[in-house]
Amino acid sequence: MTNGKVHNTIIIGSGPAGLTAALYAARAELKPILIAGHKPGGQLMDTTEVENFPGFPEGILGPDLMENMMKQVKRFGTEILQENVESADFTKSPFLIKTEKGEYLTKSVIIATGADANWLNLPSEQKLRGKGVSACATCDGFFFKGKDLVVAGGGDSAMEEANFLTKFATSVTIVHRRPEFRASKIMLKRAQDNPKIKFVADAAILEVLGETSVTGVKIKHNSSGKEEIIPVQGLFVAIGHTPAAKIFAAAGIETDVKGYIVVKNYTRTNIEGVFVAGDVNDPRYRQAVSAAGMGCMAALDVEKYLESLGD
Ligand code: NAP
Repeated sequence: MTNGKVHNTIIIGSGPAGLTAALYAARAELKPILIAGHKPGGQLMDTTEVENFPGFPEGILGPDLMENMMKQVKRFGTEILQENVESADFTKSPFLIKTEKGEYLTKSVIIATGADANWLNLPSEQKLRGKGVSACATCDGFFFKGKDLVVAGGGDSAMEEANFLTKFATSVTIVHRRPEFRASKIMLKRAQDNPKIKFVADAAILEVLGETSVTGVKIKHNSSGKEEIIPVQGLFVAIGHTPAAKIFAAAGIETDVKGYIVVKNYTRTNIEGVFVAGDVNDPRYRQAVSAAGMGCMAALDVEKYLESLGD
């Protein structure tokens, strides 16, 4: 049961997109509710040093950056709920958002639930996450100067990350599970033309070797069944992302074939009054700063939308 109160806006998600949306909405005196989930802060909580968020010339730890953003939104009076959204009803206004703890009515919603990197799901990979295993070359590539690396994947992200990593690494070996690559021709050719990049196609990654840091990657060639150890100090997993949009798709929000929320006009979704920001809409840039930018845009769009309702 709701308490009958109709909020101006509910922001779902507490990464850079959600927190920036909350900051703008709070400063516009919309008294936003931010439903942050049980592990607030999003993907940056799993990273170490962030050196590419403007304003921090010495860099900042991901969790510290998120704590700063959280403090900033609280300063302007955002109410933060550490609850998980379980369902949404967008069929009539006000919208209804249900969490495991309560039910909330709202005139507008900003979905900023992000996306999760896909992993190979090997126990050794999970053990060495943050200790040489990463899913973000832009975030962590700088720490691999002069090292040898493996990139897992065969799509555009794998090609792009491998190319980017050659700025720092001595060598990058792309290991892909099939003989053919999903990447676009141009991205594949760019990687093939890079003298620092080697390719191992049609091979499975069996294990990431090392106790406290990565010492190698064990692979199996599918055609011969032969196993091989590639001695490297890092593994970058670039096998796609999964947007956290299922609950909203079930509530009628349009998503694309990969599950990303589709925008109609800047941050507007197909349902009037429901807006989107950050990685849940963005398979392409996936940066904290671009997500924060979209959070700002969504909050400004909400403000205009509420004005158009006569509020
Ligand atoms: P993607 O196109 O879905 O490719 C994922 C790759 O990972 C595929 O090669 C896939 O292998 C492999 N893979 C998936 N699950 C795996 C598993 N469990 N074990 C081993 N390998 C696995 O994802 P993406 O490369 O992240 O690209 C996502 C979208 O962003 C695409 O539309 C892409 O074009 C776009 N993008 C564009 C640019 C650019 O234009 N600059 C850069 C990056 C991304 P299979 O091929 O065998 O399925």
